[in-house]
Amino acid sequence: MTAAAGVDVVVIGGSYAGIAASLQLARARRRVLVVDAGIRRNRFAAASHGVLGYDGRPPAAIVADARAQLLAYPTVAWIDGMASEARQVADGFAVTVDGVAYHGKRIVLALGVSDELPAIPGLQERWGVCVFPCPSSHGCELNQGPIGVLATGSMSIHQALLVADWGPTTLLTNGAFEPDEAQVSQLASRGVAIERGRVLRVAGQTADIELGDGSILAFAGLFTVPTTRVSSPIAAQLGCAFDEGPSGSFIGTDPVKATSVAGVFACGDAARAAGSVSLAIGDGAMAGAATHRSLFMPPV
Ligand code: FAD
Ligand code: MG
Repeated sequence: MTAAAGVDVVVIGGSYAGIAASLQLARARRRVLVVDAGIRRNRFAAASHGVLGYDGRPPAAIVADARAQLLAYPTVAWIDGMASEARQVADGFAVTVDGVAYHGKRIVLALGVSDELPAIPGLQERWGVCVFPCPSSHGCELNQGPIGVLATGSMSIHQALLVADWGPTTLLTNGAFEPDEAQVSQLASRGVAIERGRVLRVAGQTADIELGDGSILAFAGLFTVPTTRVSSPIAAQLGCAFDEGPSGSFIGTDPVKATSVAGVFACGDAARAAGSVSLAIGDGAMAGAATHRSLFMPPV
């Protein structure tokens, strides 16, 4: 299908959330244009875990399968590219990609988030390899070896308490977080050690930590809570309201994933406090169904 004459829905972001939303719309025979820059959050990881039917598959392979299945529907068009602008126009929205404006009656924002890590040498290049955001995604594969939790703020206490189920855990406070007395005893009751030395760098095949005094702590892997931000300014351009989460702001939605702007829906990591592939797929399915309904039902 060509999208030049306008579509029912422009979906910005064609990863787990965006494809799940598009699938619902395609199956309702609605005309959908997906615009996707292909910069998925988990592009650093070799495997995606905890995804029903796909546990341990490469993240890109899951998206490739989903994209091929979506594009089999005749009312779907896809552009590999970055949407640079979206604005309200008569009877909908205009979305600009490479200088060309595409018209949609509705918009689904499935933009994902970008992670900002502490500026510690060796950390960024190990992201998704042996440094991870979430133990439920990558904790099992560390085979109960020693695990470090690199503190970035007050959320790190929760991460350290959680991670202890996957292996003997050390909380590296690194000046970013100091547990109070009650938290120190909580950590002790979970068997979590506290290391207050400054983290100089991350080194080695797995995440070994070099401290300011020259000592090395060897870990099977490291977890840290990154600062997240929605990957595109488009939601802000459209005037969508944001909510504040523990690690960054995200697009606010109601239970069916409608944003504060009529006709704009949002799903996936960009529209929840903390995400996963499974949750992005679920949110996407909800956003797709609600967007479809909004095309013929008056808002309630
Ligand atoms: P994304 O997958 O991030 O996709 C967003 C898409 O929108 C991208 O393709 C992006 O380029 C596109 N986009 C953004 N703005 C624009 C624009 N203006 N124009 C066009 N396209 C745009 N979760 C799991 O469930 N299991 C795991 O094992 C797992 N491992 C992870 C490992 C790491 C290192 C990280 C960081 C995360 C991991 N996650 C895992 C979380 C998972 O990556 C996210 O929850 C998931 O990717 C969210 O899907 P999404 O569709 O919302 O966003
Ligand atoms: Mg992985």
